[in-house]
Amino acid sequence: MKQMKLTTPLPPEVLERIRNGRKAVEGEEANIIRCPKCRHVLMKKYSDAKGHIDCKCTKCGEEFVVDLFSWRRAR
Ligand SMILES: [Zn+2]
Repeated sequence: MKQMKLTTPLPPEVLERIRNGRKAVEGEEANIIRCPKCRHVLMKKYSDAKGHIDCKCTKCGEEFVVDLFSWRRAR
């Protein structure tokens, strides 16, 4: 994943997408996805998230695939 540089302001359609996304999950509790190796918190998913995503741990560098549909809350 490339690091985003914030030298230019975000275009309005991107800002709106961010706003809409936040609104869509308002009041919903997110499930935390942790690195299976070092337990570092990588991201949070909401109940309507489905499909597979490629993850790379920002802490230990472990790469793995997350099945969003079946991934359960880490204990
Ligand atoms: Zn890790």
